[in-house]
Amino acid sequence: MSKPVIAIHGGAGAISRAAMNAEKEQQYIQALSSVVEAGQAVLAGGGSALDAVTEAVRLLEECPLFNAGKGAVFTHQGTHELDACVMDGRGCDAGAVAGVSRVRNPVLAARAVLEQSPHVMFACEGAEKFAAAHGLEMVEPDFFFTQERFDQLHRAQAEHGRVLLDHDGAAALHGDPIDPDRKFGTVGAVALDAAGNLAAATSTGGMTNKQAGRIGDTPIVGAGCYANNATVAVSTTGTGETFMRGVSAYDVSALMEYAGLSLQQATDKVVMEKLLQLGGSGGLIAVDRHGNIALPFNSEGMYRGFGYVGDAPSVGIYR
Ligand code: ASP
Repeated sequence: MSKPVIAIHGGAGAISRAAMNAEKEQQYIQALSSVVEAGQAVLAGGGSALDAVTEAVRLLEECPLFNAGKGAVFTHQGTHELDACVMDGRGCDAGAVAGVSRVRNPVLAARAVLEQSPHVMFACEGAEKFAAAHGLEMVEPDFFFTQERFDQLHRAQAEHGRVLLDHDGAAALHGDPIDPDRKFGTVGAVALDAAGNLAAATSTGGMTNKQAGRIGDTPIVGAGCYANNATVAVSTTGTGETFMRGVSAYDVSALMEYAGLSLQQATDKVVMEKLLQLGGSGGLIAVDRHGNIALPFNSEGMYRGFGYVGDAPSVGIYR
């Protein structure tokens, strides 16, 4: 059996070539490495894949560099609406929340739904009430405010209004390796534990300037998140609507289960063929029941990392 392994992503998008800032790049690499290490530590201590992905995504939510939890993007209306899902490959149990504004860590709310409710998804106020009733930390909506995301909303709105803005110029303000105005910053994790169990978790603020009430692929089982011990665990990032229309995370599993494709073949087909045919952009991370991993993306870059227990974390940003 394979060594336990965790893989994570922090969103996909276009590289801001004009604006590469070595210091900012280092921050991303550092953040990704430390989250992989935290996931490896859970697995090395005998923790479950479910615990490892929950903890990795919680840490990514806490990191303002990524569009989930603190650092989430703004809706068109200037609010935050967060989505998250977690799935346990053991029995294909899942929990999800959508459109929450007051739960500090949406992934923990999703986990509470998985473990403490007969339902799979709660949305908006009902989800917040559920989270509060189950003892999760609640915050004021302005907890999620960051100046960078606020500026990003204004740039997006200005562009929508045909006031042209140079994206690279905007990226140069911050020097992020992946242009913050052209990236999907969802976070996610997939893992295989020592007992051979798979799990996946995905969390997001959605897409900058989205209409209030819009829900993407992230909290939808089979679209943005999927785990099944018989096949694979998958977490996606990118244009959510196409991942929903393509049922992309489940599609990887189905191609493996019914068409006998390998992990590599299935993920390539979904990301490099099927998503592109739907006009979709982004990528996914996946680990199969043998411990093989795949981290394909059809955008210019994707913040990503992985680590088998006992190995040094490996992280990447560009192709
Ligand atoms: N897929 C997410 C959504 O559509 C966005 C992202 O990946 O950043 O909400």
